[in-house]
Amino acid sequence: MQETTAPRRKKGWMNLKVTEVIEETWDTKTFFLVDEEDGGCPFDYIAGQYLTFRFDDIAERPVARSYTMSSSPCQTRCVGVTIKRVEKGLVSNWLCDNAKVGSVLKARGPIGKFVYDASLCRPHLVMLGAGSGVTPFISMLREYAPKLGQPGSPQKMTLLVAYRSKADLICWKELQALRTVPGVRIVCTLTREDARAEGFLHGRPDEKMMSEVFAGIYDEASFLTCGPEVMMQSMIEFVKTQGVPAEHAMMESFGN
Ligand SMILES: Cc1cc2nc3c(=O)[nH]c(=O)nc-3n(C[C@H](O)[C@H](O)[C@H](O)COP(=O)(O)OP(=O)(O)OC[C@H]3O[C@@H](n4cnc5c(N)ncnc54)[C@H](O)[C@@H]3O)c2cc1C
Repeated sequence: MQETTAPRRKKGWMNLKVTEVIEETWDTKTFFLVDEEDGGCPFDYIAGQYLTFRFDDIAERPVARSYTMSSSPCQTRCVGVTIKRVEKGLVSNWLCDNAKVGSVLKARGPIGKFVYDASLCRPHLVMLGAGSGVTPFISMLREYAPKLGQPGSPQKMTLLVAYRSKADLICWKELQALRTVPGVRIVCTLTREDARAEGFLHGRPDEKMMSEVFAGIYDEASFLTCGPEVMMQSMIEFVKTQGVPAEHAMMESFGN
């Protein structure tokens, strides 16, 4: 198929067909989606944006949930969303149990302002994520790591990501490979497993950990965080005490 550089836009609800499903971990799957009509990528987006999916038949009433693209806009053939099961959650479990290659999902978007905007952000993009909250940052790393320092991209990227254990590492092989890119730093902490001997940090990203990982970059960085409310709030508060202006500390809440 010939690739196109023209912007792709669709209005309203789109029918997106699942073309591939990857099991990331025991409770997380990535679904690759294309436009049902033409088999191509239905829209352009900015790394960090999300889609809202609508499900008419899985509960008594239609339900909607949002999922961030974990793929990068530079992957022009399809989009990917990475979905982590929430205990007793309706849609996340339905998708992980039922969405297969060939399934058609209704979604609208892309939407969202939780993005790296080079005209507003500082040159060092610092990201703090946990659990499924790593998805916007995986998209940003995929998008910007190959173009660091180029117009529209940050010069450096730092990701501090928290997972419960090694069994919960999402897209880990790829994140490890990205560590070798000059200007990219990826630090992973495990909250319920001590694997310090293998290079992981141990414990939640608290002030002590943040002050070690973020040392010396407060004047040059914009900080983005996505994950549990408590973690996001603590990062926003912490960087504020380090002199980071409010407009350079942003969070994305996954609560629908
Ligand atoms: C902008 C945005 C982007 C997002 N991106 C992602 C992403 O990339 N990946 C991802 O995995 N998630 C993402 N999310 C979260 C996602 O939208 C859903 O919130 C998540 O999948 C849970 O939905 P669910 O239907 O499975 O759970 P729900 O059914 O909504 O349940 C959520 C919680 O409420 C509890 N609950 C439900 N019903 C009851 C009840 N009657 N009584 C008591 N407790 C109850 C459940 O046990 C569960 O703990 C995003 C959210 C937003 C807003």
